[in-house]
Amino acid sequence: MKISKIELFGLHLPYAGGTYELSGGRTYTGFDSVVVCLTSDTGLEGWGESTPFGPNYIAAHARGARAGVEEIAPCLIGRDPREVDRINDAMDEALTGHNHAKSAIDLACWDLFGKSVDLPVYTLLGGTTGHRLPVVSSIYAGTPDDMRARVAEHRALGYMGHSIKIGALDRDGGPALDAERIAASLADRKPGEYFIVDANGGLLPETALRMLRMLPEGLDFVLEAPCATWRGTMSLRQRCAVPIIIDELAQQDGDIAAIVAGDVADGIGLKISKAGGLTHARRHRDICRAADMTVSVQCTVGSTLCAASIFHLGATVPENLLRCVLDPRDMVTIQTGAFDAPIRDGGVIPPAAPGLGVKIDRDLLGPPTNVW
Ligand SMILES: [Mg+2]
Repeated sequence: MKISKIELFGLHLPYAGGTYELSGGRTYTGFDSVVVCLTSDTGLEGWGESTPFGPNYIAAHARGARAGVEEIAPCLIGRDPREVDRINDAMDEALTGHNHAKSAIDLACWDLFGKSVDLPVYTLLGGTTGHRLPVVSSIYAGTPDDMRARVAEHRALGYMGHSIKIGALDRDGGPALDAERIAASLADRKPGEYFIVDANGGLLPETALRMLRMLPEGLDFVLEAPCATWRGTMSLRQRCAVPIIIDELAQQDGDIAAIVAGDVADGIGLKISKAGGLTHARRHRDICRAADMTVSVQCTVGSTLCAASIFHLGATVPENLLRCVLDPRDMVTIQTGAFDAPIRDGGVIPPAAPGLGVKIDRDLLGPPTNVW
């Protein structure tokens, strides 16, 4: 099977909750998405998506993803999409870095691979554990009372995992406000609930240590992405007892190896688009498994295709290592296609349909902006 045609699409996904507030005063009202369709010489189509979380989250932005696909696409015509490692080698030969561009193509290859053998992607990735995957809520930074209320709303829907965003600037309240946010968000904690306190790199070792000292005793949470640098993270790691999770800093395969080698963290936020697609993400999964590190499977954000890639990979992570999956669909108001994976009791099971299992709505996407 060979790739005979590549189409590139773009669309804007409005944020479903109005304005999303992240550490450092960053705000988002929507996200630009890049969608790729690969057509094979057998007539099958494979679809992939990459949606960066705005241009100032990690070194990724939608126009960069588009330009990256334009750089790579001509090199992939005539190649076998099922040979995902060789496809990734070819992408690396055409363009260094730019994981967010490669991710959309990589997902489309896995979708095509699955459809070509009539199997869901999770089977190709090693097989599903069969468990309902716990979906994490995303509680953006707000007032302590407001965050507590939003946790309660998700709890009422059955969510057991909650991602609590912190990282207030000093002028907005700094470590004291963050400590209040954490205490309020965890105030009504029920047995079995899992709390990720996510600073998205918005703290310094100094502000993190001050914040931790202001917390009540005995709160059960992990601290995700406290600092923006490796140095800050490792310094904090040596000086606090809270489990550390790496997210934004863990992008390349070598980053995961370095986390293990340096005992920098206890788990990672495995964002498929940040890793460059499912081919690299499955490697990150396996390194984590070998190192007893927990995994939360996510994407930066995205629509149906990103959700599908998350659920298929998440289904292959052993239950004791999988902390949660993110459902990006509820963060945006537009869905790129039909996908039979409803959230029930705060969890989700990926469909057994071939490939990623998404029926794309071409009318919604409109005409491609580029065709090779
Ligand atoms: Mg995170």
